[in-house]
Amino acid sequence: MNPPEVIAAPEALRERLDGWRREKLRIGLVPTMGNLHSGHLDLVRATAARTDRVVVSIFVNPLQFGPNEDFASYPRTPTEDLAALQGTGCALAFMPGEGAMYPHGRRATTRIEVPGLSEILCGATRPGHFSGVATAVAKLFNLVQPELAAFGEKDFQQLAVIRQMTAELCFAVEILSVPTRREPDGLAMSSRNRYLDDDQRARAPQLYTALRTCARALRSGRRDFVALQQEGMDNIRSAGMIPEYVEIRRQEGLGSPEPADKRLVILAAVRLGRTRLIDNLAVEL
Ligand code: AMP
Repeated sequence: MNPPEVIAAPEALRERLDGWRREKLRIGLVPTMGNLHSGHLDLVRATAARTDRVVVSIFVNPLQFGPNEDFASYPRTPTEDLAALQGTGCALAFMPGEGAMYPHGRRATTRIEVPGLSEILCGATRPGHFSGVATAVAKLFNLVQPELAAFGEKDFQQLAVIRQMTAELCFAVEILSVPTRREPDGLAMSSRNRYLDDDQRARAPQLYTALRTCARALRSGRRDFVALQQEGMDNIRSAGMIPEYVEIRRQEGLGSPEPADKRLVILAAVRLGRTRLIDNLAVEL
């Protein structure tokens, strides 16, 4: 299979996409920040199976990082990313510079806000994060005008934010969610895993273990959600990590659960040294 064509300029992107649309080809989009791993490639393959041409965007979006977060040190590996995309069905890698995405500067840009969903869970400790994500994704939807766009369940809250934004801004884009790809020991794949030293890497799978323990308790009939969340936090602390939150929520809308709810999700964020890890586990009861 051919390597993907690489385009950086929005005008060149539009020209190529217009050609495909004239040929009545179905276009799919996979937004990423690069440093691609097998989880990202699952999204590309899933999109390639449902569309005729897959565009993978690679852009480390400054708008979604807080002032004390890892924007400067976030891994940027464009050569390896293009090699990884070969053979996955990606036709085009869109790799815009910051000026292409934020022509009036990142602070002056028009922003998308998704209230409510953006303020809970990860949004509580990362103010502005989901607005930054929604703004970049809305721009990519306008630039690419895909029929389908894929996002990972690894970022469960992000998926909910994107679904709400897509519906409310009337984007004619089908949102495809793709299951979380994990390492053999259970750790969810993430570009940030490379920040972990050997000791931290050995502890990190305990995050998923804590989620599975909580899921088992729900399946066994427990509905004392607050106590279960507390136990999840205790398990994470015992593994040498600092819990930011462990929350049991409804899958739809991420609201607080009722004992009769059948579709729940356990979401967690932890700190392991200077690295922040998130994971989640959906539970059908
Ligand atoms: P990122 O480059 O971290 O912004 O991620 C780009 C897309 O890949 C997002 O939709 C993520 O949810 C998805 N993704 C990241 N990690 C994984 C994973 N381990 N499994 C599946 N999808 C993932």
